[in-house]
Amino acid sequence: MSAGIPESLYGLSFSALEKRLLRDDVNPVHARSLWRALYRDLEANLGTRTDFSPPLARWVAANLGRTFGLEGLVIRQHVESSDARTHKLLLGLHDAQEIETVVMAYPGRHTACLSTQAGCAMGCVFCATGQMGFVRHLTSGEIVAQVVEGQRLLREMGEPPLRNLVMMGMGEPLHNYDEVMQALAIVSDRGGLNIGPNRITVSTVGLVPAILRMAQEAQPYHLAVSLHGMNDEERSALLPVNRRWPLAELLDACRVYIETTGRRIVFGWTLIEGRNDSPEHARRLGRLLSGIHAHVNLIRLNPTQGFDGTTPANAAADAFRDVIRDAGFPCTIRQHRGIDVAAGCGQLRAVGKRR
Ligand code: SAH
Ligand code: SF4
Repeated sequence: MSAGIPESLYGLSFSALEKRLLRDDVNPVHARSLWRALYRDLEANLGTRTDFSPPLARWVAANLGRTFGLEGLVIRQHVESSDARTHKLLLGLHDAQEIETVVMAYPGRHTACLSTQAGCAMGCVFCATGQMGFVRHLTSGEIVAQVVEGQRLLREMGEPPLRNLVMMGMGEPLHNYDEVMQALAIVSDRGGLNIGPNRITVSTVGLVPAILRMAQEAQPYHLAVSLHGMNDEERSALLPVNRRWPLAELLDACRVYIETTGRRIVFGWTLIEGRNDSPEHARRLGRLLSGIHAHVNLIRLNPTQGFDGTTPANAAADAFRDVIRDAGFPCTIRQHRGIDVAAGCGQLRAVGKRR
């Protein structure tokens, strides 16, 4: 974190918090009540708690705003879809950067879509975040704080808490590996936010060494890999990162991941009219994935300012899905639930910048 900014309490794991209390001569047993205040009560004002033991209250008074901060994220804009189920938050960070978090309140599967970076270095041509370039990595505290904001929002709405998390907001999560994994360990802690690792999905554009690292470290989260093209020429034209780690290498890494973890991979495919949405593309994709334990998730292009591409009709997406299913793969089409709230990642911020 930059000089002068206190480290966020949200970025500390439970064991790090215990160690910190111990170091400051506070019995680490008090970590439990602080943790409960942060993640069960979603407390924003720790200084006003009356249930803390005197040593913990003194520690909070001495450290909060000095060594540790709890500055939440500032909600700059809150836009909801017409059915009031999809909520898109534009959140301001301490350095005036902005990120987006989407909360989807659909019965039984409340989900938040988190950002992992401000901007993104990967430059995928159709992506609003890619078009703005890389600004900086988010800290683990900033990633956890998005989940806290999501929980607060659902609580205000009288809705049950989040069940699922997807790292499909702004940024490439595996480019910010350590902070993302630290954040996921914190949000899945059973005594805190308690979002099960098997309900968390990390989506990557295909950073091969990081995929292998996730497998090797036996990270318990699901993996989604954005494919979008079924040969190197077509994929590189959309995702420049393919020049660094071409398809064959990427799919080899995916096979290692599947073999090591025993989990399938969800392959994302953004459908762009006339580019990668024909039944022939679908057949070739089916052949490419042959032998891989895969699920295919289709996303119809969300138009962005900087990309001259068209969203295919629903019928084209349905036909594509049917071919993939005939090839033996489960295949779903991601609904454009937030389309009326500037749905695609980075789009709300991009709209703001144009004003
Ligand atoms: N960086 C990660 C995760 C964030 S993007 C990744 O690329 O996987 C999440 C998904 O949204 C990716 O599959 C990405 O290709 C897709 N996406 C980005 N911009 C889009 C757009 N304008 N329309 C449709 N899908 C888009
Ligand atoms: Fe980055 Fe993902 Fe957008 Fe590509 S699609 S620019 S990796 S956020």
